[in-house]
Amino acid sequence: MTRPPYTGDERLQGLDVDFELTDEQRALRTTVREFAESEVAPHAAAWDRDGTFPLDAVRKLGALGVMGLPFPEQYGGVGAGSLAMALAIEELARVDSSVAITVAASTSLAGWPLLQFGTEEQKQRWLVPLARGEALGAFASTEPGAGSDVQGIQTSARDEGDAWVIDGTKAYITNAGTPISLLTIVMCATGTRPDGRREITNIVVPSGTLGFMPQAPYRKMGWHASDTRELTFNECRVPLANTLGERGAGARQFLATLDGGRVGVGALSVGLAQGCLDHSVAWARQRTAFGRPIATYQAIAFQLADLQVQVDAARALVHGAARLRDAGKPHTREAAAAKLFASELAVQAANTAMQVHGGYGYMEDSPIPRFYRDAKILTIGEGTSEILRLVIARRMGLEV
Ligand SMILES: Cc1cc2nc3c(=O)[nH]c(=O)nc-3n(C[C@H](O)[C@H](O)[C@H](O)COP(=O)(O)OP(=O)(O)OC[C@H]3O[C@@H](n4cnc5c(N)ncnc54)[C@H](O)[C@@H]3O)c2cc1C
Repeated sequence: MTRPPYTGDERLQGLDVDFELTDEQRALRTTVREFAESEVAPHAAAWDRDGTFPLDAVRKLGALGVMGLPFPEQYGGVGAGSLAMALAIEELARVDSSVAITVAASTSLAGWPLLQFGTEEQKQRWLVPLARGEALGAFASTEPGAGSDVQGIQTSARDEGDAWVIDGTKAYITNAGTPISLLTIVMCATGTRPDGRREITNIVVPSGTLGFMPQAPYRKMGWHASDTRELTFNECRVPLANTLGERGAGARQFLATLDGGRVGVGALSVGLAQGCLDHSVAWARQRTAFGRPIATYQAIAFQLADLQVQVDAARALVHGAARLRDAGKPHTREAAAAKLFASELAVQAANTAMQVHGGYGYMEDSPIPRFYRDAKILTIGEGTSEILRLVIARRMGLEV
């Protein structure tokens, strides 16, 4: 019996039923999918190989309205919500994680805290260009000496009456050094609280501010086309009016920001896993061994069937967390669970894809090594798997 070639569209039909997406959400997914196939996929290997930041693609995504999906129209956005954003990020990550994280980091780590905690003036100045996709934003929390433990940060901001003066170093920061990077929200220690803990405040530092120096891009294992840099601050002076929300609310703001970030990384992980699955199914149907397509061996077909079930489950977790977020309901545990499950699955999916592709999967001519290298960071950034388990366990009432 001959079957029609697998195109990957089969999963879209199933999804429509499972998640009852609106017509607008389905149309958005199709638009982003077509964009990803035509404007991103053909270049992804070269961008990865050369470490090229995909400026044109990012600008075009801005023009399509993708960078404004979660933001209200009054701030240059589209007002489509977190689920719409998750759909877009998944479709981008299905072909290229670097483009997907560029979009996800700017919207969830910079745009969202500006929307949630910023003054009207800050929103007009910084959120509007981000939402329109004319510029990118970054959030800098991690330092060489402190990542998971934000209380351990050393970057300080001194209050000089009308200005903050920032000194310190941030590590592994996404989107702070691109040609269209507009601002970085910098997490700073601004004093000591009455309970002896650090007072942490988030401060907006525009690109080009004297004393703010993004360093050369890191050489990374994956995400080669995404901009990641160390940032140094040396007597960097910004107006006190650049404080994001209340002084001392930095850690709380960061945790709230991470809820959205984790939905985004969850969607990115589902997209990467789906991309691995699509490539693997297509390969297994056309690659023959011992006179038959390898897909006709249960050892192969069952691996792919199991992967499909896990991708469906991961997508359900991501969409569930996004729907809670859109409904304005608490979703810290759900976002952590979605990111934990989906990111661990992404690593496994890339491993399975390489195994199913055999020797070809190890060649840089195939897309599989890129997926394999891009997958691992998903279990580390925006909360490592261990930290996510802590978040989930604590929400279950366990004292860990
Ligand atoms: C490509 C890339 C892009 C990034 N982009 C950004 C960005 O835009 N902005 C930003 O601020 N950061 C960014 N990061 C940093 C990232 O968020 C951190 O690397 C991550 O949060 C982990 O922090 P760490 O590297 O300091 O690891 P650590 O916190 O030192 O953790 C090391 C290990 O110890 C484990 N561990 C730590 N504490 C505990 C505990 N209590 N219980 C059990 N295990 C524990 C961790 O799970 C991990 O396995 C990026 C990183 C990379 C690689």
